[in-house]
Amino acid sequence: MRCIAVMNQKGGVGKTTSSVNLAAGLARAGKTVCLIDLDPQGHASLHLGVEAFGQTATIYDVFAGKKGLGDVLQLAIERLWVAPADINLAATELELVDSRDREIVLRQALQKLPSTQTFDYVIMDCPPSLGVLTVNALTAATEVFIPLQPHFFALQGLSKLFETTALVKRRLNRELRVAGIVLCLYETGTRLAADITDDLSRFLEQSDPMAPWKHARIFKSRIRRNIKLAEAPSFGQSIFDYAPKSSGAIDYEELVTEVIAAEAIKAAA
Ligand code: ATP
Ligand code: MG
Repeated sequence: MRCIAVMNQKGGVGKTTSSVNLAAGLARAGKTVCLIDLDPQGHASLHLGVEAFGQTATIYDVFAGKKGLGDVLQLAIERLWVAPADINLAATELELVDSRDREIVLRQALQKLPSTQTFDYVIMDCPPSLGVLTVNALTAATEVFIPLQPHFFALQGLSKLFETTALVKRRLNRELRVAGIVLCLYETGTRLAADITDDLSRFLEQSDPMAPWKHARIFKSRIRRNIKLAEAPSFGQSIFDYAPKSSGAIDYEELVTEVIAAEAIKAAA
């Protein structure tokens, strides 16, 4: 089971768009996928038409110890299960303050899934912060994907993000590695996007060999700016259902192919 945390504490960089469309693309490719919405905004859930009405069990109930993860999953499309979130999740940060195991709730919940519920991929859509929800994702993850919008300030904040992964690797999850950076909202043909991409590769090459991001790659698939990607959430559909011929669908399909190809590389290693 590959567990991928999609994180960046910077807001609006494409975390949710990437989590949802990657999850949907993997499911279309025949993989069984669990998408965990870890953002109290609940955007990933809404994007797939999963709404957490009054009595619906959500990921909040898992953090509150009231439900198992398997009890809150809803089937959004074939092979894609969603653990929805809603605004209640905003209370989790405070409610867990005194809990000794607050950083490993999600990992334990995944370990406790019944053997009848297995997934090829777990994708975790993190909120734009480095709080306890993101730390839970990093503790449960085998890989981290970082969506990044290549503009002048993109690299600012990246060092804080990397420090957090290093800290979690040291204290809670030896297996953690930053697998890749997904360039989102990419403006093709601009000098700036190309420059930032070069700066980023240089930074990665020069990093400490023990750093969890040392082997991170910049995914070859660049997610171009495409209005269809911004429209799809309001129809409760992934890009593959909403606009299968759009550049957004093409770009995410390529990303899915790259992600699946990494299975073979890992298996060979
Ligand atoms: P937050 O930090 O608030 O959780 P996020 O990092 O999850 O944000 P998204 O919600 O995925 O970012 O994207 C921010 C906005 O940009 C959304 O309105 C989304 O529809 C839009 N968007 C994301 N990627 C693209 C793209 N490639 N082309 C056009 N619009 C995009
Ligand atoms: Mg989001």
